[in-house]
Amino acid sequence: MRQVVGKKVVVLGLARSGVAVSRLLHQEGARVLGSDLKTMEELGQEVRDLQKLGVEVEVGGHSDRALARTDFMVVSPGIRNDAPILAQARKAGIPVYSELEVASWWAKAPLVAVTGSNGKTTTAVLIGGIFQRAGWQCLVAGNIGFPLSASVRDLPKEGVIVVETSSFQLERIETFRPRVGIILNITPDHLDRHGNMETYFRSKARLLMNQEASDTAVLNRDDPRTAALDAESKGLVIFFSIHQEVKGGVFVRENRIVSQLGEVERVVLDVQGVGISGPHNLSNSLAAVAAAQTMGVDLSVCADELSAFKGIEHRLELVHVVDGVKYVNDSKATNVAAVKQALLTFAEPVVLIAGGRDKNGDFQQLRPLIRERVRVLLLLGEAREKLRAAWGDLAETFLVKDLEEAVQLAQRKAASGDCVLLSPACASFDMFRDFEHRGRVFKEIVIRLAQPRIRGASRS
Ligand code: ADP
Repeated sequence: MRQVVGKKVVVLGLARSGVAVSRLLHQEGARVLGSDLKTMEELGQEVRDLQKLGVEVEVGGHSDRALARTDFMVVSPGIRNDAPILAQARKAGIPVYSELEVASWWAKAPLVAVTGSNGKTTTAVLIGGIFQRAGWQCLVAGNIGFPLSASVRDLPKEGVIVVETSSFQLERIETFRPRVGIILNITPDHLDRHGNMETYFRSKARLLMNQEASDTAVLNRDDPRTAALDAESKGLVIFFSIHQEVKGGVFVRENRIVSQLGEVERVVLDVQGVGISGPHNLSNSLAAVAAAQTMGVDLSVCADELSAFKGIEHRLELVHVVDGVKYVNDSKATNVAAVKQALLTFAEPVVLIAGGRDKNGDFQQLRPLIRERVRVLLLLGEAREKLRAAWGDLAETFLVKDLEEAVQLAQRKAASGDCVLLSPACASFDMFRDFEHRGRVFKEIVIRLAQPRIRGASRS
């Protein structure tokens, strides 16, 4: 634990994690100034509550005060590296940490940290479920929308903390050290922020940089970029793979999940028994088994949770089947790699709804799969022209103005046995508050348009 009593700390960005870390630091005796570009009205009650606690708050911009005699800064993942205030902090030699780094100073329980371009939330929640089923006191926190700062101190050292960690959080760690560090995959994402693949890759690799000999790295053998990181950990490296047997790791053999982690090799579960679908989710499941078994959880508990876990909202979530057409909400697929996995998951012809705010994605990569699996393309949002240029020759293509029009058209175009898939390959911020908002709106429209048909079907 770090001593912060009397330290002057500036927290930049007062969204959920900024508020939580301000509160934590204040309670630990630091003199906190919270600073945000938004107005008090935009920030809302949580920030007013901070003020009531005695935290100083500055809104509508970062003033020079934010830099004066500051011991360190905590920066929200939403603030870009090239923001002027961060350039000034660098010049003034002020250390800048992420909320994850700061929160980890108070962790008594071991940390199981999950990162990757895709699958973090799914895997973190699955691992949390395994620990809970095994009777451990477990907290699942981090990028998942529940900041680590909010309850890091509540977990005793006998418990376990599963943390979903993003590249932005990892960029600003110093001592953060997971007992188990899992890297699921590293594929292009957030290149609008990181600038290039190498910087993005390096930020993910930082997950392992403070590991010691007693720690474990769990790495995806099927993803060459991730597998190459075995040299970065000073601890034990465990590989997982859905395609090949990996010595001492967790893998699939003859349609069964096998673990070689213990003294003897053991079959965990038949692949068919896994509750979440798609090859990517099988891969996530192997990572979860490797992490949980490393921490001492029995494989039979892992198997039970793997079959019981049905995935989470907005990730390949089945909304409804209407007239033989599956409607699937994959609003969280905000990059090309996630859409690729979505298309690999469904055997049926796909009516794909895609588009939104481009994150500098390489849409060309999806051409073979679009040609093979997609019958109709419905494109919306800022990226729709770019998407049409990339894929428009491969399937019947329509530009639509919003999700309502997309679902209506999808309903007309889809035949029984098709799958209408919202898997946007883009961020949501051009038209929605976030991916959850986009997913909810999609589901509401699907259910509303389905109502008369469902009622009609039950009458006949
Ligand atoms: P993250 O937290 O990393 O964004 P999620 O579990 O929320 O990951 O899933 C985000 C999107 O990525 C969803 O569309 C999901 O179907 C897809 N996905 C999940 N796991 C993987 C994986 N291992 N590889 C590629 N795509 C994945």
